[in-house]
Parts: sequence; structure tokens; C-alpha cells
Amino acid sequence: MSRVYNFSAGPAVLPEEVLKEAAEEMLDYRGTGMSVMEMSHRSKAYEAIIQEAEADLRELMNIPDNYKVLFLQGGASQQFAMIPMNLMKNKVADYIVTGQWAKKAYQEACIYGKANKIASSEDQTFSYIPDCSDLPISEDADYVYICENNTIYGTKFKTLPNTKGKTLVADVSSCFLSEPVDVTKYGVIYGGVQKNIGPAGVVIVIIREDLITEDVLPGTPTMLKYKIHADNGSMYNTPPAYGIYICGKVFKWIKKQGGLEAMKAHNEKKAAILYDFLDSSRLFKGTVRREDRSLMNVPFVTGNEELDAKFVKEAKAAGFENLKGHRTVGGMRASIYNAMPIEGVEKLVEFMKKFEEENA
Ligand SMILES: *Cc1c(COP(=O)(O)O)cnc(C)c1O
Repeated sequence: MSRVYNFSAGPAVLPEEVLKEAAEEMLDYRGTGMSVMEMSHRSKAYEAIIQEAEADLRELMNIPDNYKVLFLQGGASQQFAMIPMNLMKNKVADYIVTGQWAKKAYQEACIYGKANKIASSEDQTFSYIPDCSDLPISEDADYVYICENNTIYGTKFKTLPNTKGKTLVADVSSCFLSEPVDVTKYGVIYGGVQKNIGPAGVVIVIIREDLITEDVLPGTPTMLKYKIHADNGSMYNTPPAYGIYICGKVFKWIKKQGGLEAMKAHNEKKAAILYDFLDSSRLFKGTVRREDRSLMNVPFVTGNEELDAKFVKEAKAAGFENLKGHRTVGGMRASIYNAMPIEGVEKLVEFMKKFEEENA
């Protein structure tokens, strides 16, 4: 068996320890004689799994009691519709469009009400975060929406927008549990787990209780109401049971690493290795405005498409997988999520130096 350094943007690298533990428990989960995949979600064993997962996440993120934690399906993209269907009481919401995912969320919200694009960085290929200190927030906006870390472009909000008292809703798919957050600043925090936490398909929604009401847009399907899932402890129907089990293991792994402060320190160290090299390189350069750089997704280019392709190919042959940039932007992108070890980034930089010497 040999494992590669996997720089995929998602589904992405998971801690090896977690994968090994899951493998050990595959045929017989702790004396039950069955796999978690084969288990009733109403069983004692599974109830313990989901309850522990929630408790560990609450501890890690310091989630206040007046927030619900929901484990749902449909990925992050399902939330693009669920948020307006459940939250647009006035049928007005303000969107800050800093990349493709925010744009998709904005376009989806336009189906359900008046979504206003109050800021955007599309004019410069989403390579920066706009100034959000004094935006024209709508008087009657039900919420202000952001995508906190832009997976494709490699930008991150370092300060949250001034929402002028309106509820903040954030897609944190690609920065989930990468650093501490103050949950009280948000009405809703949600993310697909396949970037930093677990297998695709699970989406975690952390939502303030007063936002969970029966008053949803007419025609909202039962499965798309936050209330039904909140009232049933994410067990209205069969939850994505195996995925939640893996998420639970990742939460425990993060706790063992020292929690979110330790994760942040680890991630800053890793990102600095790569950014420092990019800033001094004669061949490679980062594509994002310095102050808006993501700790998780690092896009870079050589400025020559053929050389980019050559780099991706040679890197793959050397055991560095999935470095090709998103199809809409080209170039390269290294996603260095929580589970990417520091050696992975050090070795990548060594490889880049060698490539630079050979090709610059
Ligand atoms: C990957 C990603 C999504 C889409 O996730 P799905 O689970 O495929 O729907 C949405 N937002 C962000 C920020 C992402 O990185």
C-alpha cells in the first residue's frame, strides 16, 4: 500500500488514523457483529454515534445552547435553496458574491425572492474579498449571505462583513474546523463535509433556534424544512449514517490534535511554507491578493499554460495528486486541508523548486 499526497479540493484527504480505525471497525463495530453501514439508525449503538458526534462538534466550536446542529443530506448545494425557503420571510436577502459557490447560492435565491448582489469581486476573477465594512444592506433583508472561504479562487474573509444587525449566513464548506470561530456572530453556519471533515453527501447546519420556524415559503417540501430535522434530532428519515460516523471520528481526531486553536496554528504553518515559496519564486506566483489568501486552498500559476500542464503531469508522476486548478480558472491549486501533513507541503515545495530550476 502506498498513499499519495492528495491536494484535491474535495472530496479530499482525511486523517489516516481515522481511515484505519474505520477499516478496523468495518466488519464488526465494537462487538455489534455488523458494520455501521448495516446498522439501524434507531439502534442504541448508532444513537451513541450521532449524539457523540454532535457533542464533540459542540465542544470543538464552542456552540451555544441556542443553536441546533443538524446533520443533513444533499451536500452544500442543497442549502442554496433551503436557506431562502426557510429564512426569506420578507422575500429579501443580500448576497456578497466572491466566487462560483456564492454565485450559485445567489442565483438559487433569485428563484425564491428578491436577492440583491450587494458586493462582488467578479471584476477581477474573484481574486480578492471586497471591502464589506459599509455595504448597502437592504432595510428589509432577511439575511446577508457569504461564502467564507472560496474554494476555487483561494480567498477567505479575514473579517466578517458588517451586516448592520442583519442575520449572517455563511457557507464554510472549505474552512470548516480549520480555525476557531465565534458562532454567535452567525445565524447560520453550514458546510458540506467532504472538504475538511468526512465523506461527501453530509452537510452540517449550525442554526440559531429563533431562525427555525414553521413560517417557510409556501410549497417548501417537508424534507427541506429546518424545523422537521431540528424537531427530530436529524433523524426525521434515515440520516447519512455512515458519513456521520466518519465525521464523528474526525471530530475526535481534531480534539486529539488540540482543538481548533491547534488546527489554526498547524494550518498557518503549512500555508506559510507554500506562500513564502510562491512569493520568492521566479517561476510560480500566487493569484490572490495577499491579505485575502486562504489557509486551505492555494491557487498558483506559472503564467504559461503549457508549463502549467507539464507541472501537473510531472507532479502526479512524483506522487502529488490533484494539483490541477479548477476547470474555470486553470493553473494549479493545492488544497491543504486539516489532514494534509506538513511533510506533504514541504515535499511539494521541494518539488516545485526542482521544477523551477529545470524550467525557469
Ligand atoms: C464544494 C463546495 C460546495 C458544493 O458542495 P456540494 O456538497 O458538492 O454541494 C459549496 N460551497 C463551497 C464553498 C464548496 O467548497
